[in-house]
Amino acid sequence: MLMDLCELSPSHVRSIAPYQPGKPISELARELGLDEKGIIKLASNENPLGIGPRTRAAIDAALPEIARYPDGNGFELKQALSRRYGVDMSCIVLGNGSNDVLELVALAFLGPGRAAVMSRHAFAVYPLATQARGARSIVVPAKNYGHDLEAMARAIDEETYVVWVANPNNPTGTLARPEELEAFLRKVPERVLVVVDEAYNEYLKPDLRADTVKWLKRHPNLVVVRTFSKAYGLAGLRVGYGFAHPSVADVMNRVRQPFNVNSLALAAAAAALDDMEFVARSYALNLQGMAQLEEGARRLGLPFIPSYGNFITLQVGKAPEIYKRLLRRSVIVRPVGGGYGLPEHLRVTIGTQAENEKFLAALAASLRE
Ligand SMILES: *Cc1c(COP(=O)(O)O)cnc(C)c1O
Repeated sequence: MLMDLCELSPSHVRSIAPYQPGKPISELARELGLDEKGIIKLASNENPLGIGPRTRAAIDAALPEIARYPDGNGFELKQALSRRYGVDMSCIVLGNGSNDVLELVALAFLGPGRAAVMSRHAFAVYPLATQARGARSIVVPAKNYGHDLEAMARAIDEETYVVWVANPNNPTGTLARPEELEAFLRKVPERVLVVVDEAYNEYLKPDLRADTVKWLKRHPNLVVVRTFSKAYGLAGLRVGYGFAHPSVADVMNRVRQPFNVNSLALAAAAAALDDMEFVARSYALNLQGMAQLEEGARRLGLPFIPSYGNFITLQVGKAPEIYKRLLRRSVIVRPVGGGYGLPEHLRVTIGTQAENEKFLAALAASLRE
């Protein structure tokens, strides 16, 4: 065949570099002939505690019904979210992971001739979702690895329809304080949507949590995005949500797949939302684990970016090489990589105490090797 069939795809789609996920445990076991049980994965910011007992029970209860389509409107989950956060159900958009919600924003509001503002080192899905719609990414230099919100406000031009803000950000773990974020919102014109992605919100100390849900009333251009993948432990089921002005939510709901969230995910998420005890345990474990990894990094003389998420990003120098040495020791972490502009960094998810210990020992050995 003479023709490359890729060429049939629009150039803005063709030039997308695929998202690099954390390596699955089964893949590493296959590649290096290792025992799956001995492998620890600290590569995708998953919850080391798994899921709570109530969530497990809700999934079991939903299983016999999976021959049926899910509730395409996600009534019960929306009702649970509405009760918890005091947001009208018409303001809620559910997604197949919060990634889906981000894609829906792009699908509904971006396109050729439009632009989105984002920070350097921000979550990789923002440039991907922007580019996939043929829109232009305006990437603003970071300040201490975090979002320079003042510069981002200045970067908004007449073609800008969306600003992506990850708070805390992944992969750097940086946080914009509530008052900085609010000042930013006051500066952004109402015709520009501000997406505040709070995937790690549940891991923040209460005084660092912005009142974004309350701000929705004052700022109709605000879209708050959250997930059940992190503190709630449901990464494998794929469920997240967005809160937005009813008109914004309406357009997003028009462009989503009719059954974008599966029935097990809907049932599990509604139950997980009520399992406060599990979220509290995840929060506490994360605080301890963060201290453990910070202390370990200091002992090894490795600089790290202070993190507000459930992960920490360490500067190890030759990151791709250290990553490989860790793999041989059955430890999977994430090289942040050149695409993020951080070629010397590894991002490590906070695990259980035993996992963190094993990682630190493997890291020390890998640095010596
Ligand atoms: C993990 C993460 C998400 C969400 O992932 P989903 O599993 O799709 O909900 C969204 N934003 C950021 C910044 C993340 O780190």
